[in-house]
Amino acid sequence: MRFLISPQRQWKVVITLIVLLMRVVSSAILRVGNPLDIMTVRPHLQDVRISGVKQFAHHYNRCKGVETPEFRWGDEVEYGIFRKQAAMGVDAALNPDTPRQFDLSLRGAEIREYLNTVEMEEPLLKKRLGCNWTPEYGSWMVEAVPRDPYGGHVGDLLDVEKSMKLRRKRLHLALRRDEVAPSMSNFPMLGVLNQGYSHNAKPCGPIANSLYISDSIINPHPRFGALTKNIRLRRGDNVDIMVKADKEGGGDKVGEVGGLGTNTNSNCRNLVKGDPNNIHMDAMAFGMGSCCLQITMQCQTERESRYLHDQLTVLSPVFMALSAATPMFKGRLVDTDCRWDVISMSVDDRTSIERGLAPESEKRTEQELQGLVKEGKRRLKKSRYSGISRYISMPKDEKDETGLETLNDIEDEQDENALEVAKGLGLDNMMAKHLAHMFTRDPLVVFDDAIYLNNNEALDHFDNVQSTNWRTVRWKAPIMSIGQTSSTSGQLVFKSEHGPGWRVEFRPLELQLTDFENAAFSILTVLLSRAVLAEGYKFYMPISCVDENMQRAHAKDAVSTEKFLFPKDAFQRNPKLLCDTEIQELGVNIEKVEMTEVTLDELFNGKGSEFPGFIPVVLSYLDKIGTDSLTKGRILPYLNLLRKRASGELPTTARWLRNKVEAHAEYRKDGHLTPGIVDSLIQTCEDVGMGTVQDPSLVGDVFIENLNYASDEEKAPFIEENYDKLVASGVMDGQMRQYIPENSCDVAVGEKEGEAAGDSAAEAMATPFLESCKCE
Ligand code: ADP
Ligand code: MG
Ligand code: MG
Repeated sequence: MRFLISPQRQWKVVITLIVLLMRVVSSAILRVGNPLDIMTVRPHLQDVRISGVKQFAHHYNRCKGVETPEFRWGDEVEYGIFRKQAAMGVDAALNPDTPRQFDLSLRGAEIREYLNTVEMEEPLLKKRLGCNWTPEYGSWMVEAVPRDPYGGHVGDLLDVEKSMKLRRKRLHLALRRDEVAPSMSNFPMLGVLNQGYSHNAKPCGPIANSLYISDSIINPHPRFGALTKNIRLRRGDNVDIMVKADKEGGGDKVGEVGGLGTNTNSNCRNLVKGDPNNIHMDAMAFGMGSCCLQITMQCQTERESRYLHDQLTVLSPVFMALSAATPMFKGRLVDTDCRWDVISMSVDDRTSIERGLAPESEKRTEQELQGLVKEGKRRLKKSRYSGISRYISMPKDEKDETGLETLNDIEDEQDENALEVAKGLGLDNMMAKHLAHMFTRDPLVVFDDAIYLNNNEALDHFDNVQSTNWRTVRWKAPIMSIGQTSSTSGQLVFKSEHGPGWRVEFRPLELQLTDFENAAFSILTVLLSRAVLAEGYKFYMPISCVDENMQRAHAKDAVSTEKFLFPKDAFQRNPKLLCDTEIQELGVNIEKVEMTEVTLDELFNGKGSEFPGFIPVVLSYLDKIGTDSLTKGRILPYLNLLRKRASGELPTTARWLRNKVEAHAEYRKDGHLTPGIVDSLIQTCEDVGMGTVQDPSLVGDVFIENLNYASDEEKAPFIEENYDKLVASGVMDGQMRQYIPENSCDVAVGEKEGEAAGDSAAEAMATPFLESCKCE
């Protein structure tokens, strides 16, 4: 172990390690066995797929009728860790003046394990707020979630920024002096050749086979390498990512791209490799190395959760557009502001026939593809990372279902075998088709110790396929222990001590630079979702329009340049719609939806009384549930930020980043980034996120707390003898007085044991419950 630990702590560490090991073993995804090569495991794939469907169906049937009246929710935030390193190619040892530049610091796994150990320290365990550090794709990345999900009262919304700050602060306490961890969407220089970066020192490794990056930047857990390799093997080639450069001729130069002129059509935008306007990338890391913000919300009933899934599907593109934060890839400014399409291309494991190319383009024989789902020959319209292709709500009757199905107006391929099995096991049509669509994809990571499992007890094969169907929204069934069933008791009411209930995860949001902004997007997502459930707003529109919006959402400066399709009467109230005691008709049909085109300003801030907009709707929801003015006043700054972003009064993160690049002395107006530009950008993002620099041009007049200050009490759990080595650069004198705002994470961290700990939870409980549908 890297960190020296005093003897009296050793027993704690042992317990911690056992707990961590149990967590790993119990996790279906991060198993301990060896992942198998997908082409080798082909003879078993059909069994694994069918088992996956059966596993879900059994689990789902056990969960039927579960209710979770408590509203709980949580967020996930990811960080990239960067370190100033001597540029390669200049002899660093001999020359102390070798230029140093930010490159990936591949300590993600080490830092994550260390932080989880620290979280188990008693003083930290006693705190009301804690963190859980989870693995991410890149070796330079970590993900953090709150230790416990947030509560369901209005006052609990104020925990999210505190929790995010706590995570940023603790992460920084675990960094070395020369490391930073800004919450940037990506590392703008990933894959840049000939500029002294070491992350591409050993290209063409056996896992990613990339011309631009080394395999060492992939998380060392076998799952991540296996995913990367199996995507490539299944596809039959490296993934092929193409992005248009921001400036004419600003794409790859000869020598910067392998196989120049091979004329491959990329998936999403029909860009051609070798075109001087395009930028080429060839590995999963370019996409999955992006960081994002995700929100998971628990619903009262299955009906609510499936309805919310559908509404969030419609909201995904417009929320992504407002959160846009990714204007740079591979050393260039690009002509898009969002990460989504790049990730989509970065994990596109479809064979050439599945991608719609001519059969001759497939170089492998039929025999070589045998065992893949449909032998790799079924046309699949989208990459497995994409927008939702089907609504899944629960219609009242056949007629209602037919109406809902008309909105599923794009090709939403179904696997016939999966459909048959799912229906045979009693799943309703919408759920069976949801599953059958998901199972048009092969399992990507099958472990040698877990091919044949008891389908009544395991969920591994289902999880395997679901967790690699990366869609804008993920619907999640309750977690229920094996042997438990809801049918015996008629209805099973889940409390927080049970597993989580029916959940929906909202995944399109781009990551923001400060915790304040990330909290703002989280709070609006939660409040709008609750308002939708309470008021029965129907955002339903044809899925083809959602896809169209997704394309528009990628546009540079979409806030000012784009309009989005939205149903005209989206804000008509149907307050009884989700009442379970008397099932209501969804009453939707493609013939009935009248569409309009609106700007993000109109969507978020409203357009006349008929179209109030998301933020006004949320404000009136807060009033309706009886929020006091003090609590509402504490929520307003978050909503205000988004109001200003949508109206253009404040820039999106992407625009702000572009402005910084364009204002840099080294920038030559050609769309090219230099190490110097990116170094100052990373440092600025770090400083703004840590609150050591205030930048009103990003967040308006909001004060961002300085997180570089840590009290002795906060530092104590971090192992003292190593503390000096661990602490981030620029930590301030412990005596320094500073303004601690109300939303400070210090309120939770600095509190005396037993004192404020319960108080703020009690305070939140005194504020109104975030009601969803009420059946009177
Ligand atoms: P994944 O990576 O599969 O999306 P994570 O474990 O990283 O899952 O994140 C799960 C998220 O769900 C966290 O934000 C967590 O706070 C949240 N969460 C946990 N329990 C509940 C619950 N009962 N209801 C709602 N959200 C929950
Ligand atoms: Mg996660
Ligand atoms: Mg997630």
